[in-house]
Amino acid sequence: MGAAAGTALAQHEGGILGSSKRAGSAPVKITDLKCAIIGKNPVVRIVTDQGISGYGQAESAKPYLKPMVEFYKPYLIGTDPTDVGRQMLRLRRLGAFKPWGAALSAIEIALWDVAGQAADLPVHKLLGGKIRDKVLAYGNSENNTPIFSPPSPQVCGELAAKMKEAKEGYKLVKMPVAFHNGPMMKATPNEWFGQQWTGRNSLYMERGQLTQHGFDYIMQCVEAMKKNLGDDIDLALDCGPGWTPKDAIRFARAVEPYHLAWLEDLITGDGEPYTNAQAFKLVTESTSTPIHTGEEVYLREGFKDLIEMQAIDVVGPDPEDVGGIAELKWIAEYADLHHIQVAPHGIFDGLFGVAAQVHLGAVCPQNYIGFEYAKGQPEWWYEIVEGLPDPIVKDGYIDVWDKPGLGVSFNIKAAKARLTDDDRTFFD
Ligand SMILES: [Mg+2]
Repeated sequence: MGAAAGTALAQHEGGILGSSKRAGSAPVKITDLKCAIIGKNPVVRIVTDQGISGYGQAESAKPYLKPMVEFYKPYLIGTDPTDVGRQMLRLRRLGAFKPWGAALSAIEIALWDVAGQAADLPVHKLLGGKIRDKVLAYGNSENNTPIFSPPSPQVCGELAAKMKEAKEGYKLVKMPVAFHNGPMMKATPNEWFGQQWTGRNSLYMERGQLTQHGFDYIMQCVEAMKKNLGDDIDLALDCGPGWTPKDAIRFARAVEPYHLAWLEDLITGDGEPYTNAQAFKLVTESTSTPIHTGEEVYLREGFKDLIEMQAIDVVGPDPEDVGGIAELKWIAEYADLHHIQVAPHGIFDGLFGVAAQVHLGAVCPQNYIGFEYAKGQPEWWYEIVEGLPDPIVKDGYIDVWDKPGLGVSFNIKAAKARLTDDDRTFFD
């Protein structure tokens, strides 16, 4: 290649990379992998030898995650973070269903953040380029109210009314019913033939056949929600797990007149490290109400049977548990081949999780419905993160931004003030 051609090629590469900080320079190398628990959210920081740091976040429900993130440090030091696929190919087999895939998922998102900054491109361009300019954020009453499981039809109605008034202007909201987190099913006696567990949280999974009283009670809760939401805001229900397939079919058919967006985790799901595609398929084939699951599932392999058997209508992986945003995009594409929709889980994913979801939502195919919006909790999270739009959600949607990487970062001075003594050197 002559000197002139070489110059032209360099200029061309410069064009591809935009105002790249590293065009023509040595590959980026990872020098450190750190994890801090900020509030309750584990935050991963990938440190590089070229002054770029990438961040990823895990669910606020996992404040114990720090040693799990640090486990992967020897595998990443000295490697090129911009080869995201190569690094994840080595590491993905070391994870598992929720919560054990969370550390790897946060690492994957942080790698994309580095890769985007190194290329001076938004992550959505590295994932294939956006096909939409705004992404639907759906609301969850557990996040907004927050009551995990309404104890009466009246409270259900009141929560739905609050969701309707939320400043985000949600077009779609998800409400908990039945076995989801328990209290609703314990509010009145004799709702199902099964053990009522007491004690710490919901570590014991409640499941069993509903009595007629129990079934009617759940229907009253749904009617109260739908009445207060009206027809302009769509409703999804987080239902379980724990239903028998026949109860699930009865319920899915009974709510058909309400045109629900989906019924989530009826058979298996939340808190369970397995799926049952055969049982889901029985339900899905018996109703016009869409059937959804997937927030616990790790990697595309975990969705293989659910998708190939047409066992569900909507997949709902969480990018902070499934193995990251590129993994979720692959699942969305494969689901689309089978005319299955995608609505990613994300209620506890934090503000970096919202950013990751926006980049992912921008590139998902036309089977994309929207993602479960997360709030910064505690409220001071909004003071330590910079780069999000203000307001974040307008009329139910978030405008996709084009800043490099995830396009959000820490106000380091403000964030340092929120670090505990254990994590004092996180930003050093
Ligand atoms: Mg759920």
